[in-house]
Amino acid sequence: MTNRLAGKTALVTAAAQGIGRASALRFAAEGARVIATDINMAKMGDFPAGVTTRRLDVMDAEDIKKAAAEIGKIDVLLNCAGVVHAGTILECSEEDFDFAVTLNMRGAYRMIRAFLPAMVANGGGSIINIASVASTIKGVPNRFIYGTTKAGLMGLTKAVAADFVGQGIRCNAVCPGTVQTPSLDDRINANPDAQAARKAFIARQPMGRLGRPEEIADMCLYLASDESAFVSGTEFVIDGGMTI
Ligand code: NAD
Repeated sequence: MTNRLAGKTALVTAAAQGIGRASALRFAAEGARVIATDINMAKMGDFPAGVTTRRLDVMDAEDIKKAAAEIGKIDVLLNCAGVVHAGTILECSEEDFDFAVTLNMRGAYRMIRAFLPAMVANGGGSIINIASVASTIKGVPNRFIYGTTKAGLMGLTKAVAADFVGQGIRCNAVCPGTVQTPSLDDRINANPDAQAARKAFIARQPMGRLGRPEEIADMCLYLASDESAFVSGTEFVIDGGMTI
């Protein structure tokens, strides 16, 4: 522990598992006061001291407004909530489209709108959006609405960065390749041949392995900390060489 986030308050969405959880733990280990949020409170029981948990559904505008009013000023906002829809444009129904846009893009839009005013009033802060290499950097088969919304989230990132750069706000995106998380396991196990599916996911990375949530959390830590004070509006790719 080096206390790189001492004195800072960080709010993390989708913190029950995967990248969000690893980041919440990393932030807390570096001295931040962390508010870990998710819709799945059953998995939020074993965070260490320094982490408070709270149910927060990023698809629920009123829930977000209420949380912002109660929590007030934060220094770091990590927008991690997202869903993967598998399929091409022909397999993406209107409902699939709306769901992905509402969770992957509108969630970050609502969170930023709710928490940004207090950040600005406080003199600044760091917003980190978890995007993806999919469509942001490279087209990926069968990820039509996922990639579309993640590329949209990248656009949102740059727009917010441009508008608030003079007010101490930094806004950046992290673009992971394939990361070993519970939802990846679910996607793998949904295949008739799960072993072959896992091999195919691993083969996407020339480094020959999946990423670890902790590796993404390390980048989030950098972006949350003052070490990245000169950095805004940028995407950080962590993908085992997937987009080389
Ligand atoms: P995950 O998919 O395993 O877990 C997602 C979490 O989000 C769960 O705890 C779930 O309860 C929560 N969640 C779902 N709907 C929510 C809502 N409406 N409000 C709040 N929380 C909600 O975690 P992951 O795989 O680490 O993915 C986290 C983020 O990283 C996502 O945005 C995902 O798109 C992105 N990402 C993941 C990978 C990967 O390979 N795992 C790659 C690139 C980007």
